[in-house]
Amino acid sequence: MPRPTTIVAVHTHLLEHRLEVPFESASMRFDRRSHVLVEVVCADGTTGWGECLGPARPNAAVVAAYANWLVGMDALETEKIWITLYNALRDQGQRGLAVTALSGIDIALWDIKGRHFGVPVSTLLGGRFRESVRAYATGSFKRDGVDRVSDNAEEMARHRAAGFHACKIKIGFGVEEDLRVIRAVREAIGPEMRLMIDANHGYDVIEAVTVGNAAAELGIDWFEEPVLPELLGAYRDVRARQPIPVAGGETWHARWGMKEPLETRAVDILQPDLAGCGGFSEGKKIMDLAALHGVRLVPHVWGTGVQIAAALQFMAAMVPNPMRVNPIEPILEFDRTDNPFRQAVLTAPIEHQAGVVAIPDAPGLGIEINRDALREFAPKEG
Ligand code: CA
Repeated sequence: MPRPTTIVAVHTHLLEHRLEVPFESASMRFDRRSHVLVEVVCADGTTGWGECLGPARPNAAVVAAYANWLVGMDALETEKIWITLYNALRDQGQRGLAVTALSGIDIALWDIKGRHFGVPVSTLLGGRFRESVRAYATGSFKRDGVDRVSDNAEEMARHRAAGFHACKIKIGFGVEEDLRVIRAVREAIGPEMRLMIDANHGYDVIEAVTVGNAAAELGIDWFEEPVLPELLGAYRDVRARQPIPVAGGETWHARWGMKEPLETRAVDILQPDLAGCGGFSEGKKIMDLAALHGVRLVPHVWGTGVQIAAALQFMAAMVPNPMRVNPIEPILEFDRTDNPFRQAVLTAPIEHQAGVVAIPDAPGLGIEINRDALREFAPKEG
């Protein structure tokens, strides 16, 4: 006899938009924005939504493979489902797509669980420590045919004018030009606004150490992904040989992927992505692991409103560490680059007000999906 929350179907929804102006990070070129949403449907009609970080079609293929195990399981049994699916691909899939696909499923299951019990996911995770978070603006990718130095400075000045207290810029293209960009941005945003730099693992150790030492005097809150994510010794080198706090973790997966960076103190700030690290089930464990090692947690976010909503629920429930009268508050990564479906997939967009984002308190992720947008941004074949 199936329970009301028995899973009866798992769907993926590909979203795609061709960019008018292609852009680049140090490690990747983007000529389109492409993401995948996961929809899990229960016997009683309850539907949950999730999203996977990374390449949309490969993620969708792995989600479809997991569906063989998922259908017939009880959506409320999130821990049992997580380890069952992980174990199904474990011998060949301890990281990468095996975990990013599982992340999208897990987020959808927690959405279902919240809707079923009539509470937001943050309540299920242990409680809401906050009702809003400050957001930081991420942008400044290298755009074709544009002078990076002036383009970055102008863009970040716009984010400051919009009320953001902090911004993050892209480096990792070349030491000299990157330093010119960082100086120009600091000049443009003034001394108060917080500034972070993200190399998207474009440097080797010598370059990262050079940039870190030269940029430190410009007031940089963190130096993200300075070197290749597989090279934890190189991370430790960068951390030891320049003064800016080192951040990373968006490409490390599940508790096991975070263990060595934490134990060997490869980063000052850990950046798990809910849609990549294993969803809420794993995010909670990673939060506790980071606290256990005295490492600050700042979730990574790069996706649609579904992923933003998931990050917000998680951030609402992030336990202050250390607990004190005026605790260190988490900040939300808020992607400002071209992506028309980012907010269109939601019936009520999640926007910022002067750099502050309210955390939805409706059941589950606290959002509803605009199915017209799913159709509008479905990839056009050919
Ligand atoms: Ca990044």
